[in-house]
Amino acid sequence: MQDTDEFLKNPKVLSQYNQLQELGVFHYIDILKKDIRNYEAIINAAKTILNSKTIDEILESTVKEISDRFLPSFLIFLWRPSSNHKDLVIRGYQNFKTFETPLQLEDLSPFESFFKQYSQPISFDLLEYQLNNPSVTEPMKQQKPDLVIPILGPSGLYGLILIGPKLLEEQYALHELSFLDKLMSFTSLAIQNYIHYQYSVRDGKTGLYNHGFFIVRLKDEMARSNRLHQPFALIIMDVDKFKHFNDTYGHLAGDAVLEHLAGVIQKNLRSQDIPSRFGGEEFTILLPETNRASAWIVAERLRTAVASLNIPWEQNLPQVTISLGVAIYDGSEQLDSDALIQRADQALYQSKQRGRNRTTVWGSGLLHKTQQMRSSRIGE
Ligand code: GH3
Ligand code: MG
Ligand code: MG
Repeated sequence: MQDTDEFLKNPKVLSQYNQLQELGVFHYIDILKKDIRNYEAIINAAKTILNSKTIDEILESTVKEISDRFLPSFLIFLWRPSSNHKDLVIRGYQNFKTFETPLQLEDLSPFESFFKQYSQPISFDLLEYQLNNPSVTEPMKQQKPDLVIPILGPSGLYGLILIGPKLLEEQYALHELSFLDKLMSFTSLAIQNYIHYQYSVRDGKTGLYNHGFFIVRLKDEMARSNRLHQPFALIIMDVDKFKHFNDTYGHLAGDAVLEHLAGVIQKNLRSQDIPSRFGGEEFTILLPETNRASAWIVAERLRTAVASLNIPWEQNLPQVTISLGVAIYDGSEQLDSDALIQRADQALYQSKQRGRNRTTVWGSGLLHKTQQMRSSRIGE
């Protein structure tokens, strides 16, 4: 603002002060200053939102930016997290905190063509009128949103943001709508980036991480262990006799097995563990900060959970089993990532050799043998 101050102090301006005042020049300068402040606020908010690393950070910074200006009674974000997820994720915020919203919405497609033509925030009432499809707008209507904002990207509609009425029961003013429109275009962009990132690191069939992401994270974990000498575990698992399964029940039944298996894996891990589809019917799991004994327990938990899994299918399917190989790395001997994968693979091979549906932990000498005996006893 220094430039305007200098302008106002200019002796020539001062000499024409009254005339300029009459013309409304100073008032106009004030309006421009206010506009600039608004744009600066939006740029700063955009920086925070676009630099957010996780979806939680994106949503929380958006909620904070909006709530700093006016308090909406609620904000509900809904989006499709990745291509293979048909289900929408729905997250509600009230007073800066998440709340369980009863809103149920299965599919974005009824909104798709509308928002492709009209890509701006719209009042819910108008959307309801324009769509003329009560079965999709009725569940939303129960939440009483004031505004609906689309999250749009190259692949169409990714999600929606519902904004409740202001807590102070005034209407949204035009400048507030304009602020929301601008801010939400950055939130949409950040959510799109997040979704695209998820597409690029996830396997389409199972929703687990893909091979490329696994290798990157494996190298990260190895570097960490080299620095800190803390152990982590690598599990490799492979479906037993899966070729025969496919030959007998068909490839689609085989695909259903892989999807359910991925569900079992995800359900049985901590949030920091990294399950990936290594390829075909082989999966890997990285277990950060995990020693041999704990890795064994996790592997056996997975093995028994899979063995008791019932997969709904048009015909009765037999029990599916997996064999597992585990390798531990603590940085005390320097290996590269291929060598560590090879160890887990050798352990997996042992499990197959010894009759399948069992876990083997890689090791050498007596400890190795003991583990194997223990493994086969538990595996029997
Ligand atoms: P083993 O117990 O020794 O592992 O026997 P296997 O038959 O599972 O081993 P093999 O490696 O010979 O066969 C793997 C099979 O996995 C072959 C392939 O048909 C199947 N497979 C790999 N990827 C997929 C997939 O995406 N979907 C389905 N349905 N099958 C797959
Ligand atoms: Mg295999
Ligand atoms: Mg197999």
